[in-house]
Amino acid sequence: MNIHEYQAKSLLRDYGAPVSDGRVVLKAEDAKTAAGEMDGPVWVVKAQIHAGGRGKGTFKEADAGDGGGVRIAKSVEEAEAETKRMLGRTLVTKQTGPLGKQVNRVYIEDGAGIASEFYLALLVDRGSSRVSFVCSTEGGMDIEEVAEKTPEKILSFAVDPATGYQPFHGRRIAFMLGLSGKQIKQCVGLMGTLYRMFLDKDMEMLEINPLILTDSGELKCLDAKMGFDSNAIYRHADIAALRDESEEDSKELAASKYDLNYIALDGEIGCMVNGAGLAMATMDIIKLYGAEPANFLDVGGGATKEKVTEAFKIITSDPQVKGILVNIFGGIMRCDVIAEGVVAAVKDVGLQVPLVVRLEGTKVEEGKKIINESGLNVIAAEDLKDGAEKIVKAVKG
Ligand code: ADP
Ligand code: MG
Repeated sequence: MNIHEYQAKSLLRDYGAPVSDGRVVLKAEDAKTAAGEMDGPVWVVKAQIHAGGRGKGTFKEADAGDGGGVRIAKSVEEAEAETKRMLGRTLVTKQTGPLGKQVNRVYIEDGAGIASEFYLALLVDRGSSRVSFVCSTEGGMDIEEVAEKTPEKILSFAVDPATGYQPFHGRRIAFMLGLSGKQIKQCVGLMGTLYRMFLDKDMEMLEINPLILTDSGELKCLDAKMGFDSNAIYRHADIAALRDESEEDSKELAASKYDLNYIALDGEIGCMVNGAGLAMATMDIIKLYGAEPANFLDVGGGATKEKVTEAFKIITSDPQVKGILVNIFGGIMRCDVIAEGVVAAVKDVGLQVPLVVRLEGTKVEEGKKIINESGLNVIAAEDLKDGAEKIVKAVKG
């Protein structure tokens, strides 16, 4: 689960990490007052969406004028004008994909004088099963690009959970960033704070890009991106309350309400499968036959008819879906339950695209009978290979 920059900064502030003063604004008419509560003389108006690259992003609508989602304002009037320009518009950045994201909130922040910009992140390194620090002198930039072109400018190391964070970790980062004097001490303190936050809140990722050195020589977190482990959200009511459902894919949101493991993808073939491994294999074989999956969907082991109906509705609500492959290997899951769910969903929402069904395992005969007697226009498949071949053929001709 991700949160907005302003929410992340409020958490940072609670932990005593240095951030600028700022106000979140939902209505343009509140912008002037919000900016007036801060010192100035420069403000920064920042679009709040769950994606980075806002500064270099562009607004879709022609009348939004030039400029991206992070803009400097030199008066409260300018801050208001920038807020008006952003609210309600769709911002496209490298991370939003071509559809972009609608800006429903902006964050007005005190402008900082920047001497240097650094990159800093903490993340769960699955390779070492540890929390890792990543830092670079190349801040404010696309870190993937830095990693590709100048990997020597990135320092990354894991923290041993047995000892936890130690001051030498912070000093390593400080030396890499070229800090000196009291900045080293500040860096050691800040890294310790970030590490503690990361563990306390069960984060998956904490990215400060840029971490800056202000012109008065202080470290400050100028941007903040946080991701939390969804499996641990149940023990963080404060974090769960920060969820902004309008930022999430509507199909993924519906799926999460029914406890379905669903991830939207870019392809044309909708998949309904039981078991994550079979779902992966199904996606692979669709690609092998020359098409792309529109989603990953694991309906789980003990899915009910209602759950299957919902899953089918989610797949058919995706306008990109040009064909559907149902691939069920019934173990705990019963084929007749799947068949009933599919039939109920099709009766409810109709079937606009070809549907291939492959059923195998527990209660397979009952399942096939339900499908055959439903009057639905279903293409039956014998096995995984046959199913993939048939659906790709039905879609691509
Ligand atoms: P994004 O990464 O989405 O583009 P950032 O918050 O990193 O958004 O902002 C982009 C750039 O804008 C930063 O690298 C920094 O140079 C500048 N910036 C952001 N916030 C401030 C601020 N409060 N004061 C001065 N400059 C800022
Ligand atoms: Mg940034």
